Amino acid sequence: MLNRVMQWIDSWSKPIQAQSISSENKQIQWVRIIPFIILHIACLAVFYVGISWFALAFMLMFYLIRMFSITAFFHRYLSHKTFKTSRVVQFIFVLIGTMSAQRGPLWWAAHHRYHHRFTDTAQDPHSSTHGFWYSHIGWFLNDYNFATRKEVIKDWLKYPELVWLDRFSLIIVLLTAVAIYALGEWLAVVYPSLATSGLQLLVWGFVVSTVLLIHATLCINSLAHLYGSRDFETEDQSRNNLFLSIITLGEGWHNNHHYYAGSARQGFYWWQIDITYYVLKIMSWVGLVWGLKPIPARVYEVSKIAQSASKVNIFIKTKTKKNSTGEST
Ligand SMILES: [Zn+2]
Ligand SMILES: [Zn+2]
Repeated sequence: MLNRVMQWIDSWSKPIQAQSISSENKQIQWVRIIPFIILHIACLAVFYVGISWFALAFMLMFYLIRMFSITAFFHRYLSHKTFKTSRVVQFIFVLIGTMSAQRGPLWWAAHHRYHHRFTDTAQDPHSSTHGFWYSHIGWFLNDYNFATRKEVIKDWLKYPELVWLDRFSLIIVLLTAVAIYALGEWLAVVYPSLATSGLQLLVWGFVVSTVLLIHATLCINSLAHLYGSRDFETEDQSRNNLFLSIITLGEGWHNNHHYYAGSARQGFYWWQIDITYYVLKIMSWVGLVWGLKPIPARVYEVSKIAQSASKVNIFIKTKTKKNSTGEST
């Protein structure tokens, strides 16, 4: 039990790393996840702390900036290396992502690399073949998936600051909560017209915002392998889903991503909204990131959308030609 509590603080302390999933390591480890449970129960405090426009706006903004850090930096950068950046920008956004309470950045990237390597098979950390609840949350709470799988993120272990963030991610989360509480207390004194307080900002701006952020992210592992369209014939169950793309800033084009994970862009067409990619593009214009990897032409050659669009184009062109020569009715 002491080990479990130690792992709250230092997630690398006495790691349990099983090679395969079993009925034993698939069980929820209740002591280990007490901080996670407290975070969810604390949402009930919304009925006690009241509400203000400022607290709601803060909740939304803090959700968006952390979601961007998760999708752009934990996912497209640390997991897939689809663009390049400086060590300072790398640290800043990985730090903001760590405030999301989704464990450490290297833990996140390592599990995601496993997911791509073994998608929807027995070795996938959150295989959709185990059903919705396991792929959404069950996998996140068991011994099979607590340890950082260092063997697949060796490329990042050379950065001590990333290793530190990975080990002590809970400290970053707690400091974030304290800072938001202090901000609320300060605003209550200096700008009373905002009608907020330390506790109100803590509950809406940190607790509720973080719980929404966690579950939106986890939906990509669960719902994005269940509901949506399949433009590419991948061997997994991945789907493209507009709603999930909106709440995760572009991650819902998951079937696209499982077919080709090497591009910084996940919405392969102009109408596949991918906010993360638009922000990365703007960041590239000012030199904060560079070398955004494109989508190769060969990807579009096997896309069902592109194929059906080209058939429509051929049909329209043919019809127009016939009309112009007066041979068609
Ligand atoms: Zn997936
Ligand atoms: Zn991925």
